[in-house]
Amino acid sequence: MASRFETLRSLVEKLQLDLANAESALTSAKEEYYGFEDATEAEQANLKVLLDSNESGTHYQRSVLAAQRRLDAARSAMVVAHVRFNDARNKVQTAINRLNTAGAQLQDATARRDADERMHREAAARRADQKRKQDQSKSDRDREWFKAKQEQRNQSQQEKPQSNKRQRPAQDQASERPRAAPPLRFTSQKIQKWYAACADAFQDKASMKEFPQAPSEPCSEAGCAANEKIRALRACRCNITKIFSSRTKAELEMDRVRYHPDKFSTVPGQHRDQIQQAAKEIFSVVQEMYSKL
Ligand SMILES: [Zn+2]
Repeated sequence: MASRFETLRSLVEKLQLDLANAESALTSAKEEYYGFEDATEAEQANLKVLLDSNESGTHYQRSVLAAQRRLDAARSAMVVAHVRFNDARNKVQTAINRLNTAGAQLQDATARRDADERMHREAAARRADQKRKQDQSKSDRDREWFKAKQEQRNQSQQEKPQSNKRQRPAQDQASERPRAAPPLRFTSQKIQKWYAACADAFQDKASMKEFPQAPSEPCSEAGCAANEKIRALRACRCNITKIFSSRTKAELEMDRVRYHPDKFSTVPGQHRDQIQQAAKEIFSVVQEMYSKL
């Protein structure tokens, strides 16, 4: 579809051609009119000479009549040519007016098109700038995240007991030193994926059929092994503790709400018990971690 600008431009081109045609028609009409004007004058002069000669006789009479007829014919032709001349002049004037109107509209449309283009260019530049800033802050965030993980890893390396023997720090020791993040065997990618799966599933609890499986690994703790059969989740308390170990206090506070079993009361009846049990397994660990911070 042609834009208003293109439509106007071809209209202006057509009107320029119309004007050129009208002007050349005017030139012909003018020449024709002047031609008949000259002829009329010549016939007038011719007749005057005849009449001034004051001759007589049949031959003379016939010559005068013929000269009068030629003068009449030249006059009528001149009148007709004059009408055509006026007509051609009016047509030129009309063509000029039309061209002026279309020219003004074209100028207007050009200005508007230029403004539109400028606006689009500016909007595109703004979008590109915004994206560049977003990318920048994202890579900043990624760097921050990586740095935090690195520090966490370093810390857990230091906290690792020197002997290979598993040993639980005594309660008083634990309260003395800062909370040590357990070694991360779960990749943060797996953990993020699980958080995302939860966020996705919790959006429509009325359609939930199962609780997203949290990342897990085999655990040799006596209590965990014994509970394995009755747990809703494969992940044991130790696994869940590891998953949430990098959460801040504020995040744990939100998790406490998010994973509260009461939040799952709209899950369909046949799945509700299992899902609320899974939520409870998460919630009880989160609640404990939160209260210790
Ligand atoms: Zn365990």
